[in-house]
Amino acid sequence: MTNLAILLQLNGHWDSVGRYNDFNVDGIVVSEDSNYNQLNYAIAEHLMINTSEKIIKIKYIVNERCPPMEIRNDIGVRVYMETKKENRSLGMYPLCSSIQGNNVNKIDFLFATCVIGSILPLAYVVVGSEDDAAWNSLFEQFKDAYGKKPNMCVVSDRNESILKATSIVYTRMPHYACMWHIWTNIRSKFKKDHLKLSELYFATTRSYTIDEFNERMSKIEEIDVRVKAYLYDIGYHRWSWVHATVNRTWTMTSNIAESLNAVTRDARELPILDLLEYMRTFLESWNNEKLLKVKGTFTYLGEKYNKELEDNRTLSQKMRVRASTDHIHTVLDGAKRFIVCLQNKRCCCGQFQLDELSCPHALAALRHRDESYENYCSPYYTRESLLKTYETPVDPLPDESKWNVS
Ligand SMILES: [Zn+2]
Repeated sequence: MTNLAILLQLNGHWDSVGRYNDFNVDGIVVSEDSNYNQLNYAIAEHLMINTSEKIIKIKYIVNERCPPMEIRNDIGVRVYMETKKENRSLGMYPLCSSIQGNNVNKIDFLFATCVIGSILPLAYVVVGSEDDAAWNSLFEQFKDAYGKKPNMCVVSDRNESILKATSIVYTRMPHYACMWHIWTNIRSKFKKDHLKLSELYFATTRSYTIDEFNERMSKIEEIDVRVKAYLYDIGYHRWSWVHATVNRTWTMTSNIAESLNAVTRDARELPILDLLEYMRTFLESWNNEKLLKVKGTFTYLGEKYNKELEDNRTLSQKMRVRASTDHIHTVLDGAKRFIVCLQNKRCCCGQFQLDELSCPHALAALRHRDESYENYCSPYYTRESLLKTYETPVDPLPDESKWNVS
């Protein structure tokens, strides 16, 4: 994979003869194999633009006799890359990027994650603007269809309207902040040591014990005391797994909302009926793809969880176990000592209860007791649960002549 350094020309304007004037300059490095979403994302990330609110129009000039070429899709990116590869010097073929408000249809998604241990888009809404009324109506309709289930929580970008709507529709439901959005905010507010901070921040959100959390927080404080204060003000329970009151097992381990937004970006410019049909077929194939994957899995747990379990099993091999009672075991991992309670499915490493998957120490204790792991993992991780989830079809839409519109 070869990288290309590309000059960006920003915030300029096009004149009547196709020249880009009064711009600022910046630069990005992207892989020659990038597709449209990757290029768009690289520019947005570098310029810290929230692409759900803004659109980036990318154009470049091939030669002075041609009007500028606009990059709209993967083919456009390929043509650009092939051209740019011919002349790699930074000043050649700059990308002229203008940033505009997103005045096309806006699509927002609701996902179920923790309940099934895997991402399942539950609902989406097309709105003109993200205001209180739009969010209220989405959550009310969602509640009608889905009801209220135990251990539900909301994870959002802390948009005021979402906070308001959920507190009205789902009173007292815990509300958490999306860790990816927090990171984007930290990066734009505090311009210091992003590389070190990013690694440390994500490790802190995923800390399994309070000690581990505190240790990482003091390292963050050493790097930039303002970042610690910022995270403290949001409330630790809103973004740290170990502080959360609802177990957020495996929640938001990837920036899924952004990647779905990227996939549906082009569709937003379609007329409303075409847009809805695009979304329906998109979710139909998304669901079917997941279903085929589960059908091709032959382990008791789904593929991702089975891999995690196997890794834990490997780690457990060298551990020594001393039973204290039927359920309580002391597990020695070299010089470190861990207490596992199989009855309560807890280990002092924190991983057993937070991941709801047997940690290496629990697996060592289970081996000592000659018992299998099946009853010590969340039932939601099993192949059977995943199969049930994705077997629910996204209903096909009949031909337009058969619609009953009254
Ligand atoms: Zn453990």
